[in-house]
Amino acid sequence: MADADVMDKLVSLAKRRGYIFQSSEIYGGTGSVWDYGPLGIELKRNVKERWWSSMVHQRDDIEGLDAAILMHPKVWEASGHVDGFTDPLVECSNCNRRFRADQPDIADGQCPVCGSKETFSEPRSFNLMFKTFMGPVEEQANVVYLRPETAQGSYVNFLNVQQSARQKVPFGIAQIGKAFRNEITPGNFIFRTREFEQMEMQFFVEPGTDDEWFERWKAERMEWHLSLGIRREKLRYHEHGPDELAHYAKTAVDIEYEYPFGWKEFEGIHNRTDFDLSRHEEHSGKRLEYIESHSGTRFIPYVIETAVGVDRTVLVTLCDAYREEEVDGDERVVLGLAPHIAPIKAAVFPLVKKDGMPEIAERIHADLRRSAINAFYDASGSIGRRYRRQDEAGTPFCITVDGQSTEDQTVTVRDRDSLEQVRVSADQLVTWIRDRVDEAAQAAGGAV
Ligand code: ATP
Repeated sequence: MADADVMDKLVSLAKRRGYIFQSSEIYGGTGSVWDYGPLGIELKRNVKERWWSSMVHQRDDIEGLDAAILMHPKVWEASGHVDGFTDPLVECSNCNRRFRADQPDIADGQCPVCGSKETFSEPRSFNLMFKTFMGPVEEQANVVYLRPETAQGSYVNFLNVQQSARQKVPFGIAQIGKAFRNEITPGNFIFRTREFEQMEMQFFVEPGTDDEWFERWKAERMEWHLSLGIRREKLRYHEHGPDELAHYAKTAVDIEYEYPFGWKEFEGIHNRTDFDLSRHEEHSGKRLEYIESHSGTRFIPYVIETAVGVDRTVLVTLCDAYREEEVDGDERVVLGLAPHIAPIKAAVFPLVKKDGMPEIAERIHADLRRSAINAFYDASGSIGRRYRRQDEAGTPFCITVDGQSTEDQTVTVRDRDSLEQVRVSADQLVTWIRDRVDEAAQAAGGAV
């Protein structure tokens, strides 16, 4: 299967099964903006909940925050985004298409769309922030920006969080929230979009301990990705060379994933030094120092940042899970999502719509849902077709109520991956499914 085909197949499966739809599709779509359907939102929530649990709930040295998307415009002057958050843009004078000048596909000077040579304009800086106006008057004084990262909300609230939560350095602030970037070359489905969600954590440390904390976070983040069930051989580190470093970073490493379109960034881990806090001190005139209570020592902490996209994590889990295989001479498409992140944990089928089977199946379905196990009821089509639909949706367990169930209250449970079927007592199902989901989470990486 060619890799380009995999992306096309994934995009159509995502639509067919209710994972991801193009935004405003009936109007022809909005450029590189996507909507999450019934299964997509469940996968996204599972990813976010696991991140939040590992970052905030399971640790006592990280606090949560939900800062607003709109911030004081001076924030973005201080952070360097107004002057520096730009990509070099060139335009082809033949077809008027625009490209990022730093992309390899235009390095030979040939337009990848119309094929013309030597038709690119000189590169000019293009700011990626979306601008809008606050209040009724559209003038320069009222310009505000949609945040291009959540991190700045954590910096401007550094002392609010530290003091209210009575934290001591080292400690971190975690946020999950929307970010917006007017990307010149978005694409590859939800890999690079103009509206996306980030999971970012800023860890404040004493200068001099930053290199050690950087290494710790680099290792921890890799473990987290593995805990989603992602294959180890598809993940690697990419250390940034001096020419790749962002203006604020002392050191940076990406965790990369091998997408069907090649090895690319999945998460960024950055040592941002005291750059952001110092700049906010300068621009706001307010002190952002940390004062150690026992010694009275004052310093501006260094920041180790871990930054990953929710949408990009969803894409990685989908790419990693997609497979096509033959079973008894039949082709099947499977989303082999780990049970602990799969949107639906179990599907319930009555073998036929009579002889008391639908009643038992409905009761099982209701029991599972009441126990907070997301389950799906399906009574239409042959059992084979019902299995195929759930294989594509990524559902790990299919429960079938058959003739024997009406006699002894047992059902068959079919495993999506091994295809093994076992008989389980109907009143044990909630525990049985819960145990399997927990086991999968443990096997993939402990409690995180
Ligand atoms: P790139 O250079 O690839 O545009 P970046 O290095 O600027 O990305 P960061 O600013 O480090 O990215 O953002 C942190 C994370 O947020 C990325 O690793 C990625 O997971 C996610 N992310 C960034 N931009 C986008 C986007 N346009 N669409 C989806 N996710 C994004």
